[in-house]
Amino acid sequence: MKITLPGLFDLQVNGFAGVDFNGAGLTADAVHAALDAMRVTGVTRCLPTLITSSFDDFAANARVLARAADPAIAGIHMEGPYISPHDGARGAHPRAHVIAASVEDFQRRQDAADGRIALVTLAPEVDGALPLIEHLAASGVRAAIGHTMASPQQIADAIAAGASLATHLGNGCPQLLPRHPNPIWELLAADEVLASLIADGHHLPPSTFKAMVRAKGPQRIMLVSDAIACSGKPPGEYAIGGQACTLGEDGRVSLIGTPYLAGSSLTLDRAIGNTVRFTGLSLDEVLPMASTIPAAFVGASTAGLLEADWDPEAFTLHVTRIAASAATDTHANQSPHRA
Ligand SMILES: [Zn+2]
Repeated sequence: MKITLPGLFDLQVNGFAGVDFNGAGLTADAVHAALDAMRVTGVTRCLPTLITSSFDDFAANARVLARAADPAIAGIHMEGPYISPHDGARGAHPRAHVIAASVEDFQRRQDAADGRIALVTLAPEVDGALPLIEHLAASGVRAAIGHTMASPQQIADAIAAGASLATHLGNGCPQLLPRHPNPIWELLAADEVLASLIADGHHLPPSTFKAMVRAKGPQRIMLVSDAIACSGKPPGEYAIGGQACTLGEDGRVSLIGTPYLAGSSLTLDRAIGNTVRFTGLSLDEVLPMASTIPAAFVGASTAGLLEADWDPEAFTLHVTRIAASAATDTHANQSPHRA
């Protein structure tokens, strides 16, 4: 079945097609190459994501991304370094560079990024997190809760301060949790926050994925790839920010020597097919989760129109044509999802 849809919008991409946005020596040419490869999968805009690292490494890569001046870049997602230091919650983020939150530290990172940081994922229980969330909300930067072991009260406080997203809900938390309360239930129940989900079948079992989408409601779900350099590449060894990881035959990306996931090899076109398959929702209900909802969430626009073949039996979406149109952001400092 031939369909037309808006260009896809990915809030969380760590790299693509052999390029690691977190790697040393990142160049504008490499960034453009990764974005070009991503376009083939239908993603016409995204937030390249920089995970926890030293200030110098962050600043170097943020500068390259900001100055690449590629219209596909709608901003930068800074994931960490203000996250839980604990194993499990921390995921693949290096402990050595996990630090307390402060407006000052954020501001020097934002300056290094030429003001392009549009989304910050942090843990509310970290020292300094709440004042920073207030600062972010006041300055038009979205604050997301993730890689956290926060208590229900800490999560409620973060939402009151302006946090509006649960980053890759159901991941970035310890393997073993109290059945309840725990951060997953709290974030799932909070109607004020949207949730991003990784629909690769590895980060969340299909049943969990389906239950989360039903609980949040399709209007509050955004599909992210959390892709790393191995996306669009064969199984083997890759890296994220200098840490070795392996892409298995089954598509799972693991930090070598640990049980922890280290991003994904997912592409957003496959995430859409998987979401229809896992949830039983219609394609029309799922498409906004990967296009207009994330774009509106960061106050950006989608770009371009896609033509695609949709196979409802195999749940595959194959992008066949991308009609170019320049991205025009007219309301970068407003979030339609906040009262
Ligand atoms: Zn993460």
